[in-house]
Amino acid sequence: MSELKLCQGSKCHTYHTQDRLKGQQGSKTYQTRRRSSFYYGNDNFCSLNCQNDWFNDFGDRAINHFGRTTEPKHLTKDNAWYKDYDYNWRATDNQHSNWRFVNSLTKEQRPLTEAQYDDSNYTINTGE
Ligand SMILES: [Zn+2]
Repeated sequence: MSELKLCQGSKCHTYHTQDRLKGQQGSKTYQTRRRSSFYYGNDNFCSLNCQNDWFNDFGDRAINHFGRTTEPKHLTKDNAWYKDYDYNWRATDNQHSNWRFVNSLTKEQRPLTEAQYDDSNYTINTGE
């Protein structure tokens, strides 16, 4: 049994749904949703509504804290690489093969190992 976590939505408890109504008979209250996992906002919110509530309350501060984009970014051939692979849905094992970098602008391809594909920090992109 994994530990339950709380929805981070700042208004989650204000929505009147039966599953939020908890407590002893006679003193039930609407409460923040508690689940083992959530579908929204990187596993932090029970619904898109709750994610939007949080962003409306805290989004500006979060963006300012982590760095507001003040200049347009440019996609160039140096930062246009993305990772791709072939998927064989008929195979029972080794369904993935031919891991590669593909340049979305030049269409050039470069070989990649499976481990490099899985490593989210591994990139050949330079600049932003
Ligand atoms: Zn919620």
